[in-house]
Amino acid sequence: MEVNKFVEAKSISEAYDLIKADRLNKVIGGGAWLKISMKKAKTLISLDNLGLDYIKEELDYIEVGAQTSLRKLETNKSIKSLSSGILSKAINHIMGITIRNIATIGGSIMGKFAFSDLYPVLLVMNVKLTFFKLGEISFEEYIDIPRVNDDILVNIKFKKNDSLGYFKKVSKTALDFAMINMAITTTNNNFKIAIGSKPSIAQLSKSTMKFLNSQDKLDDEKIEKACDLAVEESNINSNVRASKEYREVLIKTYLKRGIKQVIK
Ligand SMILES: Cc1cc2nc3c(=O)[nH]c(=O)nc-3n(C[C@H](O)[C@H](O)[C@H](O)COP(=O)(O)OP(=O)(O)OC[C@H]3O[C@@H](n4cnc5c(N)ncnc54)[C@H](O)[C@@H]3O)c2cc1C
Repeated sequence: MEVNKFVEAKSISEAYDLIKADRLNKVIGGGAWLKISMKKAKTLISLDNLGLDYIKEELDYIEVGAQTSLRKLETNKSIKSLSSGILSKAINHIMGITIRNIATIGGSIMGKFAFSDLYPVLLVMNVKLTFFKLGEISFEEYIDIPRVNDDILVNIKFKKNDSLGYFKKVSKTALDFAMINMAITTTNNNFKIAIGSKPSIAQLSKSTMKFLNSQDKLDDEKIEKACDLAVEESNINSNVRASKEYREVLIKTYLKRGIKQVIK
């Protein structure tokens, strides 16, 4: 990566002004992805000195600074207590500890990676993002915005919950990107389901959720119907990692297992 200038921002507003000043000025999180994906940056703006590396437990939510490493999140007790620890489980599937010590939650969210193992999880947990200019939005709203390239993600808030959760990543090798990934949570039998790496970006399976949440009791037939619905609404396609048909089989298989696991 070719960098003309490196600046350690002294305030978030300084970092914001710098990215606004030129399209080729870039914020760096952990840099694990940026360094292999971007050829040139006029000014590379570090957020390292802004106190954004923290996990803070409040009464109703857990607040995480954008510069917090994935490894810190993965091993944090409070994070593990949310939704059966699915965020920690999903992070655990990303490369090795060395990369997870470098990569940040901020960079993982701002990258808008379609293969992201975190996106399905963040969609089914109650997550809010705080941006310097945009303010606070839900993770679901963030997914629908094409790209927020000219703002700074400051923190991520996880609402405390006692929901049950399920996470699954299927990949050819332990270090590869997912062929599919999915996350499910249930609170009082109210389902949230998100499927990612289809290969398009993760989305909530809204019709499937609506169907499941309208049932008094779930039996095998209804669960099968929910899995068919999820495949129908997921906009599944082929790429080098897996065919559309194989992805459909994977989604049906693991969604069925996941639903059964969280209604136990
Ligand atoms: C070899 C490799 C394999 C990987 N495999 C997987 C995988 O299997 N599954 C998976 O889910 N992930 C995977 N990842 C992605 C990884 O988990 C991180 O999501 C990724 O490295 C980005 O985090 P980072 O801190 O390195 O961000 P950076 O590379 O520093 O930044 C990424 C983007 O976010 C922007 N950015 C960073 N922080 C902020 C902020 N606070 N505000 C605004 N913009 C910001 C940057 O400008 C850049 O555009 C992989 C990464 C690598 C390098």
